[in-house]
Amino acid sequence: MLYNRDFIDEKIKTAIKSSENLIGKGKLANYIPELANVDPDNFALSIMSVTGDCFNYGNYNYEFSLQSISKVLLLIMALHDNDPEVVFEKVGTEPTRYEFNSLVPIDEKAANPFINAGAMTTSSMILGNDVEEKFARILEYYQKMSQYEKAALMSEVYKSEMDTTDRNKAIAYYLKSKEIFTDDPEKVLDLYIRACSISTNVGALARMGAVLANKGIDLDSHYNLLSKSEVQIVVSQMATCGMYENSGKFLMNVGIPSKSGVSGGILGVVPGVCGIGVYSPRLDATGNSVRGKEIFNILGQELDLSIFIH
Ligand code: GLU
Repeated sequence: MLYNRDFIDEKIKTAIKSSENLIGKGKLANYIPELANVDPDNFALSIMSVTGDCFNYGNYNYEFSLQSISKVLLLIMALHDNDPEVVFEKVGTEPTRYEFNSLVPIDEKAANPFINAGAMTTSSMILGNDVEEKFARILEYYQKMSQYEKAALMSEVYKSEMDTTDRNKAIAYYLKSKEIFTDDPEKVLDLYIRACSISTNVGALARMGAVLANKGIDLDSHYNLLSKSEVQIVVSQMATCGMYENSGKFLMNVGIPSKSGVSGGILGVVPGVCGIGVYSPRLDATGNSVRGKEIFNILGQELDLSIFIH
């Protein structure tokens, strides 16, 4: 990073301190019962630079599920397995003002890969003989990209969502009825919910972000985990569609391509600089972590992380 370690550390600690006034603000996601079964005021932050410098704060080893952050992973896998033209023939690229699990932004195709309908579409494009094999490929890729070998299916979260997923089931059947995919909707839905239930911690998110920030190249092995064109697609979609109905405002105010999930995590990518992972499970009305958003906001300003101000 451009600043020295002590300076960065000081700025991060100050950002964490000033975000403390938001403790208690926002609500846990409870439409998936297991997601309400957490300490609402838990907090963790991790930043990893493209040169491998790592900054960890709070309960940075705490495990939570990826939820919507898995949509980044599902898009990457769909792009690995298909040409981009084929992927974007089936899913759109534009932000939507509708909530993530709405059926409204599905016209000829889902508005973008980061709403549920779009992520089910990308799930349907991932290769493998059955759900198990497809999920094993997704998980293996996540372990490699995040260097979090412990990443696994959180079975309580998975079961809890599978038991309460009527809306997503409707979306899956609707997509099939529109011939956006031809697979069994139950299987597509199962794969999508498994991906949402992958365990992570903020360090793993920061590492994933750092790989995206590093043109897709692994920081240690220098192996190309994504092509430059895949990075271009994934990070630009994060910038325009990654923060639910607030994506435009977040990009305008903060300027960091990001993807959030209803478990309270946010993944951020500052191209050429670093990856960021935050966890704080109280959410605003659109599903973004209240304290997480504020941390991004302060750090963006204090460390000049906005992609628009360089
Ligand atoms: N598994 C969640 C759902 O499909 C993910 C939602 C999210 O994090 O936005 O409802």
